[in-house]
Amino acid sequence: MDVSYWQCRPEGDPRKVVPAVAREVGAQAVHVTRESTPFGRRRDAQVERALSHRDIRFISTGTPYAVGPGLVVKQDGAPYQVFTPFRAAWRDHGWPAPAGAPANLAVAHLESDREAWSFVDDALSVEGLPPLPEPGEAAALRKRRKFLDGELAAYDSNRARPDRPGTSQLSPHLKVGAIHPRTLLADLAGRRDRAADTFVSELAWREFYADVLWHNPSSAWRDLKPTLSGLAYDEADDLVEAWRQGRTGYPIVDAAMRQLNGTGYMHNRLRMVTASFLTKDLGIDWRRGERLFADKLIDFDTPGKVTGYPVGKDDRVIMRSSGGGGYGDPLTRPPEAVQADVRAGFVSVARAERDYGVVIDAGTGAIVGMKRPAAVPASS
Ligand SMILES: Cc1cc2nc3c(=O)[nH]c(=O)nc-3n(C[C@H](O)[C@H](O)[C@H](O)COP(=O)(O)OP(=O)(O)OC[C@H]3O[C@@H](n4cnc5c(N)ncnc54)[C@H](O)[C@@H]3O)c2cc1C
Repeated sequence: MDVSYWQCRPEGDPRKVVPAVAREVGAQAVHVTRESTPFGRRRDAQVERALSHRDIRFISTGTPYAVGPGLVVKQDGAPYQVFTPFRAAWRDHGWPAPAGAPANLAVAHLESDREAWSFVDDALSVEGLPPLPEPGEAAALRKRRKFLDGELAAYDSNRARPDRPGTSQLSPHLKVGAIHPRTLLADLAGRRDRAADTFVSELAWREFYADVLWHNPSSAWRDLKPTLSGLAYDEADDLVEAWRQGRTGYPIVDAAMRQLNGTGYMHNRLRMVTASFLTKDLGIDWRRGERLFADKLIDFDTPGKVTGYPVGKDDRVIMRSSGGGGYGDPLTRPPEAVQADVRAGFVSVARAERDYGVVIDAGTGAIVGMKRPAAVPASS
């Protein structure tokens, strides 16, 4: 089955759109993949109610994970709070083989398709969009094949190197369900080498975060650990803006934020660096960073970003997983000093435009033109 990301997806409130499309094709049942995020669960419950008023059944099955969130538990039934034992139990639990393609699939071409395609055309004609990955299952499978035949061999040594194209780049495809993790796990079944093992571990992180969110739905918007909820943060809009535009004066942070603004993707290590810089070094509430990630990331995924986001401006950045492990070295400079660095080095858009005549794209922070020849102002 080759279903593109946006096939048959008119715009609007799913409580109205889904029953309308079901009515258009005369469906008696609507099948979906079972949701596990708090928003998805609420939305699906409401869609189910709306369909039931029209005597249409709503059937949710399966999971976008190898093992459905909530199924891997300790012997006493309690959820795992730490990744390593979770991963061991997750492997022991096992997962079914990937589902085969349906023997035949009738695709209906509907009146509402026109509306859906015009919505997509409008969305894609917005200027400054990042280059989007090729949509659909066939494209995801091609990318997976390229990775298996290429980068995977050195994945364990290259995956932590943002300067190398050493990872699969499959996250946007996994996020929309164009490829299932069970397909990737089946590819690696029986392999015991370090590269394959490391890749399976990364998929396990995805499963772990989904599991944490399943057991703690409010962690989508609240601090997971009660001890963190009293932390004071700085509002500092100017610092958030410098971070957002990639103008902090800290080269790796700036390069990463510009990569995010320009492409919608950021390497895992750079997500850690930029998120940690915002919360730990600048002392800004993680939710502000997470909101920007939600807006910009093409692979944006509630469990991944929520639980992966570091919290706190303590001497250690604490992962939002309930285990409370940390990453990041102890602070070598207090947040006040880093804030001062950024304020001193940050050339605001208004000032850059006024003093240097450059035209800066407000969305990406990139210089997109010159109003007049650049002249260094006497005061600098
Ligand atoms: C602050 C922060 C925010 C993040 N936000 C997201 C997000 O919104 N969506 C998202 O998919 N991932 C998120 N991640 C996890 C990770 O950075 C991306 O999944 C990874 O960079 C995607 O690139 P890739 O597909 O080439 O990864 P690969 O290295 O090829 O890994 C294969 C797959 O494993 C999963 N994976 C890999 N690393 C992680 C990880 N650390 N945590 C969870 N799953 C992982 C992803 O599904 C990924 O596609 C976030 C991490 C951090 C630190």
